[in-house]
Amino acid sequence: IKKIGVLTSGGDSPGMNAAIRSVVRTCAYMKVDCVGIYRGYQGMIEGDFKPMDARSVNNIINKGGTILKSARCDDFRTPEGRKKAYEQLQAEGIDAFVVIGGDGSFTGAMVFNQEYHFPIIGIPGTIDNDIFGTSNTVGFDTAMNTVVDVIDKIRDTASSHNRLFFVEVMGRDVGHIALNVGVGAGAEEILIPEANRGLERLLESLKRSKKSGKSSSIVVVAEGDKIGKSVFELKEYVEEHLPIYDVRVSVLGHMQRGGSPSCYDRVLASRMGVKAVESLLEGQTNFMVGIQNNKIILTPISKAIKGHTKIDKELIRVSEIMTT
Ligand code: ATP
Repeated sequence: IKKIGVLTSGGDSPGMNAAIRSVVRTCAYMKVDCVGIYRGYQGMIEGDFKPMDARSVNNIINKGGTILKSARCDDFRTPEGRKKAYEQLQAEGIDAFVVIGGDGSFTGAMVFNQEYHFPIIGIPGTIDNDIFGTSNTVGFDTAMNTVVDVIDKIRDTASSHNRLFFVEVMGRDVGHIALNVGVGAGAEEILIPEANRGLERLLESLKRSKKSGKSSSIVVVAEGDKIGKSVFELKEYVEEHLPIYDVRVSVLGHMQRGGSPSCYDRVLASRMGVKAVESLLEGQTNFMVGIQNNKIILTPISKAIKGHTKIDKELIRVSEIMTT
């Protein structure tokens, strides 16, 4: 392998730049060429490439988002689109790539590898932490810190006015962010897709908390919680059934994906980038780099895609004890 491409694909996450920097610098260290592929698979199909050396990634480790830009690309889902991508990679002399993204991006890479026997390695970059084979994805730690920070601020205003806040955080299928920030920010209740504790319990808990003299309450709600009501419907429901509360809603949205990456995410991304390039140079392909018990490991990409990340049962228990 003489030339390695690197791209970011799907939703961006803080720390992607640190991962790009690590891939580029490891290539330089190993004396192989590195090429940045802009706008994910779309840029691959269009040949939007730029050679990158160690100096081209100066001053990006602290920046959120991705300097290579990211995109969703429907053409890459078709054999014709992937053929174009292959031709562009051939023309540029790229003979392997590292894709930083989520499971959709990994599926694309795997299909591409099957069709063209093209060496690929994935680095998990998503705030949701919804990827099997790694205890942390790049961006998850930063997103948790961002959200905890915001909830602390919401609590200040909530307690000044004796209000109840429903705070919606990202997590359509998984409750990792919600559960962790709920515990970390001392939420009253945490609603996640993995556990439906029901509306009754929510009302009981809010009643109890009011009785015990609490001046404010925060309920953290993951986007995909299974209670079957949006945060706005939850507000209406509580106002109707528990009129003692002045209820507000805060939907945090895309701000959760932004910001300067935490030290943890920068270090994680740096470690994963080194492992990704080293693995390709050792002849490994079709793996995702992950971290387990603070060891950097490889998981077959097919497993990373299919496996389910399990919510931490022990943490659910902790949250139950903390919210009594
Ligand atoms: P996240 O969900 O965290 O935003 P992701 O990587 O899962 O990140 P997707 O939008 O699912 O994001 O996928 C990114 C891109 O990967 C798609 O736009 C498409 O180009 C490619 N891709 C996804 N699934 C496939 C597939 N089955 N075959 C080929 N390419 C795919």
